[in-house]
Amino acid sequence: MPIQLVTTVAGLKAESARLLTSKGGVSQGLVPTMGALHEGHATLARTAVEQNDVVVASIFVNPLQFGDAADLDRYPRTLDADLSLLEEQGVDLAFAPSVEEVYPGGQPLVRITSGNLGDKWEGASRPGHFDGALTVVAKLLHYGLPAAGLPGGAADSAAGRLPAYRAYFGQKDAQQLALVRRMVADLNFPVEIVGVPTVRATDGLALSSRNRFLSEAERDAALVLSRALRLLEQRANAHEPLDLDSALALVESQTLVSLDYFDVVDPVTLEPLAENCRETPFRGEALALIAAKVGPVRLIDNMPLNS
Ligand code: AMP
Repeated sequence: MPIQLVTTVAGLKAESARLLTSKGGVSQGLVPTMGALHEGHATLARTAVEQNDVVVASIFVNPLQFGDAADLDRYPRTLDADLSLLEEQGVDLAFAPSVEEVYPGGQPLVRITSGNLGDKWEGASRPGHFDGALTVVAKLLHYGLPAAGLPGGAADSAAGRLPAYRAYFGQKDAQQLALVRRMVADLNFPVEIVGVPTVRATDGLALSSRNRFLSEAERDAALVLSRALRLLEQRANAHEPLDLDSALALVESQTLVSLDYFDVVDPVTLEPLAENCRETPFRGEALALIAAKVGPVRLIDNMPLNS
């Protein structure tokens, strides 16, 4: 079916309800994006299509999460290509609202605060970023909530059966995913959060809308991020000490890369693991996080570690 584009919240609500009813569906999925879509986003969309009867993808570059106006202006906008990519994955509805539609009174007075989980790592380099991101995710989760009583009509409604509601986020933005899970748990949002593994180019570089700004030499240099993460993954899989210092030395040997942070953390709290995982054999679960500037482009990547 051709994808439908809606630009208003009212249009989204009406069309998703109509689709859910006409398909006799019992589940709705939401895939929030900022557009400039690539195979990573496509994988999120395909996963949502496999798991739900109706799927909505939102495309909205959220000013609230950009500290730097120039960064916001520079963010790539490729609506026509995005719609084709979403249609190919079987997404039913694309929701691409204006800034005025999402923030009709200007900047919202009341916002989500991300607390100390949002102050560290990415939050330390981008103050206010996660408060802005969570505020728009909260709004998008509300927009995408399937209406009560659908799709089975009065009988389902009377039986208290609501359509299932799932939202899809990439593991690529690990801190965002951890924060969205925490917001949904802390504030009782009626939605299941599904995390989707990071999609990489064949050489290991994590796909990102920002990769298009890398020169060829910078793109080559950026490969050191995923190589350093793979090194830790291999050691974790082999139950060896992680020896973060040697992985760090690998990154620092690359002159075009200016490292911001590189550490191994608890996957839920994102607190650094005890020092001894560096020297003692690795057991359990962790997450390696890395962020660096490669030329003018800030890149992030991460790797779940399990043994
Ligand atoms: P963005 O448009 O960058 O805000 O990303 C929208 C969603 O796509 C977020 O949940 C991201 O984590 C996810 N995403 C971005 N890049 C990737 C990737 N390489 N693999 C998996 N998910 C991704």
